[in-house]
Amino acid sequence: MTNYDYIVVGGCAVGLSTAYNLGKACEKGEKVLVLEKFMYFNQAGSSGDFVRMFRTMYSDIELCKLALKARDLWIELEKEANVELIKMMDYQDGPEGNLTKPIEIMKQLNMEYQQLSSAEIMERYPFRNLPSNFIGVFAKDNGIINVFLTLRILYKLAQENNVELRENEEVTKLELNTGNHSEDRNVIVTTIRKNVNGTQDTMTYSAKKVIITAGAYVNNVIKTLNFQIQLCIWEMVSMYFTLDAVSNPPIQVPSMWFQFQDETPDSKSNLFYGFPEVSWGPENQTRIAVDYSSRMIYDPDERHTGVSEYELQITSKWVEKHCIGVQKYPVFQGTCLMPNVRDNNFVLDFAPEKVLGPAHKNIIIFTAGWAFKFVPLLGKCLSQLAINGCTEYDISNYNIDREGVLKDDKDTPPKHPVYKPQPC
Ligand SMILES: Cc1cc2nc3c(=O)[nH]c(=O)nc-3n(C[C@H](O)[C@H](O)[C@H](O)COP(=O)(O)OP(=O)(O)OC[C@H]3O[C@@H](n4cnc5c(N)ncnc54)[C@H](O)[C@@H]3O)c2cc1C
Repeated sequence: MTNYDYIVVGGCAVGLSTAYNLGKACEKGEKVLVLEKFMYFNQAGSSGDFVRMFRTMYSDIELCKLALKARDLWIELEKEANVELIKMMDYQDGPEGNLTKPIEIMKQLNMEYQQLSSAEIMERYPFRNLPSNFIGVFAKDNGIINVFLTLRILYKLAQENNVELRENEEVTKLELNTGNHSEDRNVIVTTIRKNVNGTQDTMTYSAKKVIITAGAYVNNVIKTLNFQIQLCIWEMVSMYFTLDAVSNPPIQVPSMWFQFQDETPDSKSNLFYGFPEVSWGPENQTRIAVDYSSRMIYDPDERHTGVSEYELQITSKWVEKHCIGVQKYPVFQGTCLMPNVRDNNFVLDFAPEKVLGPAHKNIIIFTAGWAFKFVPLLGKCLSQLAINGCTEYDISNYNIDREGVLKDDKDTPPKHPVYKPQPC
């Protein structure tokens, strides 16, 4: 058995950020290991695709404050790596009532924004047929995250900070060492390592702290610890549509946009969003999608191949009605897993004390929520929880003991399977 100080389970966005922060902050001689079930930069979880939205405009003031702090950490990360990871810009629209809360919060926090009428939105953006009761909010400090580059930069920085990164190695079992009964009980981690020649080995490690960032797969990782999280996993569809390349003047999508509109009789969700063409994505394509999933599963192994017709149809219909210079049908589409708990927020906490007793702080868990925009902050926060047992960030809203997070035996299948569509 090899001993480590810190083991991170799951080597994607949040896991790599945690590993990098641990590598940077832990003491000389301490060892950090990341175990990734698949290859690095895989599309098996939630961090697939080319782009993610960064925004500070929220209807939840705590998330808004956290996003403002995350923005500073993105800037630090960009400076450290000497690259641009977020292309800043943003815009949101929807019926007036839907934007009241975020506007109120922006006012309260003195954040800059610009309000547009429905006609002004259509003047600036290639949209048509927007209802006259729509307003637009152009908010600062929002932008498009370069997912590909972010993951690769975090991997490189983790490596440079002496983190050991293993791939094709699945954590299959976690146990608390029964050798002693104090808070310091180590965590024993068992894995199956797949070798390139097709053979596999069972490996065992010991760590002072284990940080689980396995996203939608979290319940598979914690299954031997006698608790489970009540997750509803959305198979979200993303689609790329061709933009008219020859029109004069050229079609300009000046920024990322998001439409907030309540559901209507013909659609279970009207939370459509889109990105302009980006230099690191497919040429002459715009990503437009609906923030909803008609396929909800409870275990990543239940994932379908292919995408759901429903999302394809409502998005194509919306594109045809409202988008100028965009081909009605997508050129390609894919799915990505989005784990949700009942309140759509993060789970960011130690393992539950009521299940694991005094050693519960040796296991730290992150899953659920729209997390990409918080990646540098979550990495820092999780590494602080591992090293110091506490963090400078207020994470009290994301505790594992809040209602609806832990699954009790009666909840199979979950009592409240659907969690309302929320903007990402
Ligand atoms: C379609 C879509 C759009 C989104 N848009 C936005 C957005 O615009 N803005 C935003 O902020 N957020 C957005 N999100 C959410 C965001 O992408 C996720 O919150 C974020 O990617 C989560 O990263 P992660 O590292 O926690 O999880 P993941 O990326 O899922 O990584 C988990 C990793 O754990 C590994 N793993 C699993 N089981 C094991 C095991 N047993 N042993 C070892 N490794 C294991 C997996 O292979 C995977 O690599 C979106 C999500 C989706 C699906």
